[in-house]
Amino acid sequence: MPSLPHSELSARDDASTLQRWGLPAIVSVLLLALWLVLVFAATFQKQRLNDDSQQDLALLNHLVAQHVTTLFRDVESDLRVIDHWLQANPRIDPRTDTRFALLVEEMLRESRGLLNLSMVSADGLMFSIPAPAGKPIADVSDRPYFRMQLGNGERKLFIGDPTQSRSSNKWYIPISWRLESPVGGINVVLASIQLDLLTALHESMRLKPGGSITLIRLDGTSLSRTPYVQSLIGKDFSGTPSFSSEYGTRQSGAFVSEGGVIDGVPCIISYERLEDFPVTVLVTQALADIYATYYQRRNVIFAMAAVLTLAVVAFTLLLHRSQRALRLAKDELQQLEATDSLTGVTSRRAFLERAEREFARARRYDRPAAVLVLDLDHFKDVNDTHGHEVGDEVLRRCAAAWNDVLREQDLFGRIGGEEFCAVLPETVLGAALQAAERLRLAVAQLKFAGANGVFGVTVSIGVALVSPGDERLVQTQARADRALYQAKELGRDRVETLEEPRLIADSGVTAA
Ligand code: GH3
Ligand code: MG
Ligand code: MG
Repeated sequence: MPSLPHSELSARDDASTLQRWGLPAIVSVLLLALWLVLVFAATFQKQRLNDDSQQDLALLNHLVAQHVTTLFRDVESDLRVIDHWLQANPRIDPRTDTRFALLVEEMLRESRGLLNLSMVSADGLMFSIPAPAGKPIADVSDRPYFRMQLGNGERKLFIGDPTQSRSSNKWYIPISWRLESPVGGINVVLASIQLDLLTALHESMRLKPGGSITLIRLDGTSLSRTPYVQSLIGKDFSGTPSFSSEYGTRQSGAFVSEGGVIDGVPCIISYERLEDFPVTVLVTQALADIYATYYQRRNVIFAMAAVLTLAVVAFTLLLHRSQRALRLAKDELQQLEATDSLTGVTSRRAFLERAEREFARARRYDRPAAVLVLDLDHFKDVNDTHGHEVGDEVLRRCAAAWNDVLREQDLFGRIGGEEFCAVLPETVLGAALQAAERLRLAVAQLKFAGANGVFGVTVSIGVALVSPGDERLVQTQARADRALYQAKELGRDRVETLEEPRLIADSGVTAA
């Protein structure tokens, strides 16, 4: 059965594939670009936040370190002043001397309760200043801050482990100093930094809510921790990896501790070692605090982008589907237009279009092609005798029979009421006449049920060849039409041609 050539079909397919998926493809690329930009911006933003936080933290770290340095300097100066004063008054009893008590009282007032000052005799008995009734308050002969000051070695400030007071039960950092020479049996003076007050001071400086401030002695022993955590006081950190790679070996720096080596909270840790004292100050900021607003904002933006993406995808799909429906409807319409509704063969307009293309191809490549015009004989009588519906049935069955006879590459269509046309590519006159004869016979064999019993119909066929002189298909068609007219004249039910006058005896077909 005749149909569209293959090459034409696949070319049209390629074009429509592009059309069909063009919009979704462009939208996908745009959405992908949007998400790439978002993810890149988010990563960049987070990195910047990280850098800024480390800088801010280092600044705070430095401030706290200066503050702690000032505190230790004050302690050192207090102890040295006491030493000088006692050396200048070697004959007094420090336990009971009122002038000495006044001096110490003044110092304590200036420290606002942060410091406690006391003294230890050569045999390790601790006395408050002044000592009521000259009585000791505790025996500290076993304490390292006392034992370290025994002997005649170099005199220096000793910062001891955090210690719980035997008199008040409060925790303090002991700082001891050996007098140049004993006065009134007193060998050592001791300043205790009260941990609860130091912690209260640092509480106002730390980055809330998750940040912390920790003082660690160079040997890895923690001296204080804010917020106050008892288990972290006096703890030895010298065995931890970050002690050996960071604050135990370097002057200052910062690192991210995902597991929170100091207190279990993931954080950035900044550290700075004091210049004049064997203490490192560690300041942390919890990662959760740093990123809280960032995550909040990022999630809002990502959620908005997700909603936008969904909306765009839904809209695109909708558009895509309606476009497809439109295209299908258009295709269907075209198909409908190209088909004759009564017989199902190619319609007049579509046939002429395709025939015109075939004609042009044959002329361009100088290939043979034949045009056949078919017209049912006395069809008016069929209608008159058997009715219009029977006439329609005749048209349908004749068209189907002819369609069966013709080859795949032949074009065939209904061009008028009971008039049909065929274009046979690559066909010379002899083959064209034979084909026409087959068409004539195909109809002659059909039997129809009519008003007065069974009847048959015949067809007359005019054949013409596309010739070098033809510029348009109509010219060839006109010659076929004249041959058809001749067939009618010569008695119908026959094939006629006006091409090359010669007799084709054995098929019973004549040429004019
Ligand atoms: P000739 O042998 O000279 O061709 O005679 P004819 O009667 O076939 O020619 P004519 O042109 O006088 O009549 C053609 C008829 O075909 C007239 C018309 O009623 C009929 N006809 C045209 N289209 C249709 C159709 O779709 N259905 C039916 N049933 N008849 C049709
Ligand atoms: Mg006619
Ligand atoms: Mg007719």
